[in-house]
Amino acid sequence: STPVLEIRNLNVEYGLGDQAVRAVRDVNLTLHRGEVLGLAGESGSGKSTLAYGMTRLLAPPGVITGGEVIYHPEKGEAYDVLGLSDRHLQAFRWAETAIVFQGAMNSLNPVHKISTQLTDVLRAHRPEMSEAARNARAREMLKLVGIAADRMEAYPHQLSGGMRQRVMIGMALILQPQVVIMDEPTTALDVVMQRQILGQLIELRERLGFSVIFITHDLSLLVEFSNRIAIMYGGRIVEEAAAAAIYKDSLHPYSQGLLGSFPSLRGPRRELTGIPGTPPDLKGMPSGCSFHPRCPKAFEPCSTNIPVLARPDDSPRSVACWLHPVKEPVG
Ligand code: SF4
Ligand code: MG
Repeated sequence: STPVLEIRNLNVEYGLGDQAVRAVRDVNLTLHRGEVLGLAGESGSGKSTLAYGMTRLLAPPGVITGGEVIYHPEKGEAYDVLGLSDRHLQAFRWAETAIVFQGAMNSLNPVHKISTQLTDVLRAHRPEMSEAARNARAREMLKLVGIAADRMEAYPHQLSGGMRQRVMIGMALILQPQVVIMDEPTTALDVVMQRQILGQLIELRERLGFSVIFITHDLSLLVEFSNRIAIMYGGRIVEEAAAAAIYKDSLHPYSQGLLGSFPSLRGPRRELTGIPGTPPDLKGMPSGCSFHPRCPKAFEPCSTNIPVLARPDDSPRSVACWLHPVKEPVG
């Protein structure tokens, strides 16, 4: 499978000089064409920072201090998103990679009709389109995300939270981007609604052919909906594998702890055990493996040596844990 987005050695810090804390550490991650890649971890693990970093939407004091984000357009040469001019970046964000943020449903403009908000995106990015074509396209997108045509002329407050979320997805897809990033897009909605919206997104992906990076702390949702899962802790990716491999046989004790923190939707019932302790503070990251103070399996090297993300065997999975000795470092 061909890559569409390759994150290489990405580093993000907050603050400068002595005050700087590292929020994303040496992250390597590849999104392949057509796949759904899940990104999991507790809050503060760096997953949102990674999403903001790779699209250059970091707000100060966030700074990218190293790495590359190589994007492969459908036509033409691959390029580094981190090297784009502001003007090209604007185009990239809607037309190539679209993002639906946490609480995005509340970012609709309350004084404009749904139809206007969708056609505004087209007006800005596709000035050559006729008014009629824009309206038709907006209607088509709303239909795709399951919103009836008569809701086009509604204002955001006249729609439910789930409908507003679907409008945001329709807006993200309107320029037919290759990559859609969703950052905990459904935390404000109930579980049934979350699954419905996610299921619909996956169906749309099958029809339209985009790739998805889906970010959440709820690993059970990812197990159900993604092809591959990367798990973050303390700003690093600590395990990456096919969703089924994470579910059946995760190798990292943190992944195992996360799986034990959410009710599973398929397969045998697990006892919910959670993970003792709290995620580390970026300012006081533990030495060695940053999970060691909470890890039930910590042993001699863990508090002093940082385990690198590496393949434990010949399968396409990787883990950063001293329990799984290095064969071939990843990256
Ligand atoms: Fe636990 Fe050590 Fe593995 Fe870290 S390296 S997850 S502390 S066993
Ligand atoms: Mg977040």
